[in-house]
Amino acid sequence: MPVQCSSCTKNRAVLKRPKTGHSLCKECFFFAFEEEVHRTIVAAELFKPGERVGIAASGGKDSTVLAHVMKVLNERYSYGLELMLLSVDEGITGYRDDSLETVKRNQEQYELPLKIVSYEELYGWTMDAIVKQVGLKNNCTFCGVFRRQALDRGAIMLKVDKICTGHNADDVAETVLMNILRGDIARLRRCTAISTSSEGDGVVPRCKPLKYAYEKEIVLYAYFKKLDYFSTECIYSPNAYRGHARTFLKDLESIRPSSIMDVIHSGENLSVRDGVKMPVQGTCSRCGYISSQALCKACVLLEGLNRGLPKLGIGKHHRLHGKLLSEEPLTEKEEKKLKAPEF
Ligand code: SF4
Ligand code: ZN
Repeated sequence: MPVQCSSCTKNRAVLKRPKTGHSLCKECFFFAFEEEVHRTIVAAELFKPGERVGIAASGGKDSTVLAHVMKVLNERYSYGLELMLLSVDEGITGYRDDSLETVKRNQEQYELPLKIVSYEELYGWTMDAIVKQVGLKNNCTFCGVFRRQALDRGAIMLKVDKICTGHNADDVAETVLMNILRGDIARLRRCTAISTSSEGDGVVPRCKPLKYAYEKEIVLYAYFKKLDYFSTECIYSPNAYRGHARTFLKDLESIRPSSIMDVIHSGENLSVRDGVKMPVQGTCSRCGYISSQALCKACVLLEGLNRGLPKLGIGKHHRLHGKLLSEEPLTEKEEKKLKAPEF
């Protein structure tokens, strides 16, 4: 017998919400999902009327759903925001070129302006070229560091007040686990924050309106709304460490569906004891971006690439950074250590 929607009690239910277990019809699910994002936005005061907001858009399901929901809510609740799409082209043939085509279609579908910034124009390197030099073991470190800065640079070009990203509850829970397993206290404290204020010049505040949205529900929303998104994985994936955290979390979720939210809440409630040494933020002496070292991570990675010493920014080589900065020559042993790519 068909199940009735438990919300409107009129239509036939088409899905069981992973988050609440309620059987809902399409329209009631859309409304419930959108309202939850709205409540998240209001409760955390993520935006102010009149702000220009850049939506980080990759063409994937999360950012496509984010762009769609932001547009719906901005109109429904008169947020008064000026929305635009901001994409990063990492230069990955067979992956990002195709997903950017999706973003370009989204731009037309949602009638939002779009700005694309590329690694090639910002750093002189595409990810294709980086992988050729560094191999497939540390490529995501380069990509992650470069993306963070690229988004800031794009946001500054677009003159936006804020960037919102499509990070969902599953992503945040994975990051909490990864930071615990790595003992990275500074990141652990930051990663659950729903928004970051500007940490310095050149850094645009960010927020995560989908922080409490389950990945499963985002997929259902995109599917039933027939949104146009790109679902292929990056050809240079997997990011092995995150993959393990993800698998572990999925296992936990199958035993206890609330695990994702539980891990996020645990992360939110951890506090750092007084007196624990935290990195002090300064600025990069080369590019001016925020950094807790003399050179920011992007500049160190770039220096390594340009010198043919790709492992310079991987692991702990701080002493060698200083040497390179002062143009002091490296010993043969030091060079060898920084050279070998890992495939
Ligand atoms: Fe970049 Fe790695 Fe993500 Fe591919 S999987 S887009 S290389 S961070
Ligand atoms: Zn720098």
